[in-house]
Amino acid sequence: MEIYDIGIIGGGPGGYSTALYYAGQGKTVVLFEKDEIGGTCLNRGCIPTKAFLHVAEIYSQINCAEKLGINIEGVNIDFEKVFQYKTSVVEKLRKGLELTLKNAGIKVVKGLANITSKKEIQCADIEYQCKEIIIATGSKPKEIKGLEYDNEFILSSDDILNITKLPKDILIVGSGAIGIEWARILSAFGVETTIVELADRLCPIADWEVSKRIERIFKTKKIKIYTSTFVEKIENKTVFLSNGEALNPQCILVAIGRETVMPENTNGIKVIGDASAEIMLAHYAVSQAKELALELPFNKNVVPSVIYGNPEIAWVGEVSKSKEDDEKYDKSMILVSALGKAHCDNNTEGFIKILSQNGKIKGASIVSAEGSALIQQIAIAIDNDLSVTDLKKVCFAHPTYSEGIMESIMRL
Ligand SMILES: Cc1cc2nc3c(=O)[nH]c(=O)nc-3n(C[C@H](O)[C@H](O)[C@H](O)COP(=O)(O)OP(=O)(O)OC[C@H]3O[C@@H](n4cnc5c(N)ncnc54)[C@H](O)[C@@H]3O)c2cc1C
Repeated sequence: MEIYDIGIIGGGPGGYSTALYYAGQGKTVVLFEKDEIGGTCLNRGCIPTKAFLHVAEIYSQINCAEKLGINIEGVNIDFEKVFQYKTSVVEKLRKGLELTLKNAGIKVVKGLANITSKKEIQCADIEYQCKEIIIATGSKPKEIKGLEYDNEFILSSDDILNITKLPKDILIVGSGAIGIEWARILSAFGVETTIVELADRLCPIADWEVSKRIERIFKTKKIKIYTSTFVEKIENKTVFLSNGEALNPQCILVAIGRETVMPENTNGIKVIGDASAEIMLAHYAVSQAKELALELPFNKNVVPSVIYGNPEIAWVGEVSKSKEDDEKYDKSMILVSALGKAHCDNNTEGFIKILSQNGKIKGASIVSAEGSALIQQIAIAIDNDLSVTDLKKVCFAHPTYSEGIMESIMRL
């Protein structure tokens, strides 16, 4: 039997961050991982998709280079190499993380861990006694009847990361962050892309004007959109939609959300990350880890969401679900095309929308280059209860996309 202060099951961002924070405080930590260190985020989620997106964006930009005075001929995609690039990014980061854990003195045990009692974990016939156990076992792609994954025609977000050849066309079911990002990647690579969304607008968790803008951007990219529509059935690889249409895509990516993975005997044991079924984002898991190990509580209403690609889509705090909903707030919106930097970069698509009440910022939704960085400014302002007047006093650098935040604030 081995004895530790802390035993953590799951080596994703929730688990490894908790391990590092506890180890930093001098605790002895054992971390169990049945698959690869880094979890979904590093191996099957955030990182590999963003590596693909990066290549897709460069490819799209090269295709517009002529407008900027760069003549490039014979541009094409070698998808096998793109695949290798994605794999190399993941492997490099995983090796770095493994080394960080080792240097922090954390014992990493590879294998399926089972909780045998409130203070005992078993893995590969060895018992580990831990003063405290933390579950960070993450989540997996949700599966629904009629759209069961066969890993060939009907793909999960895990499966699509393993394709080494691009399909001619694809049907994406679901328009959350995963569906939108893959639509961007695949359409940029020339795959004919169709999205089916059950709600009446794309990305229904976002602000209504963000949804409208994504639809507009997708139309310019020739991505076909069906909203208020669902897959009724699939027969011999023909997909029958609820609107009566039938499609014959080469494959289907099902991106309808994720469900928690939980070991048995969890009674009274702390759960963090995706497994806690709160907000399924890597940075939420990391904040939960800080809260747990370092006693640094965070505001669960101020968790930024980002959808990557060009332009980035980001929001934080309250979002408006309709035009009528907007009326609850003082609303200010500036178009990215009003910014000098956007024109220099040939990146004029998008807007910055800020909602306030009683002189305090309540939320923001951004569709813009650098949206992932911009949204953090608003998150810090809301988190620190800064007033609109406080923000008006801030000096913003020129020329930047941040000036869009300033211009939007100045109109409140
Ligand atoms: C395609 C995709 C893109 C994404 N993009 C983003 C993004 O851009 N930004 C963002 O914030 N989030 C993103 N996410 C979500 C993000 O990946 C998750 O929120 C994050 O990984 C959750 O971290 P976690 O530690 O809770 O769980 P996970 O990362 O899922 O890790 C859990 C780990 O536990 C292990 N495990 C489970 N059971 C056991 C057991 N019994 N014994 C041992 N090990 C076990 C699993 O093998 C896994 O490695 C994305 C997800 C997907 C699928």
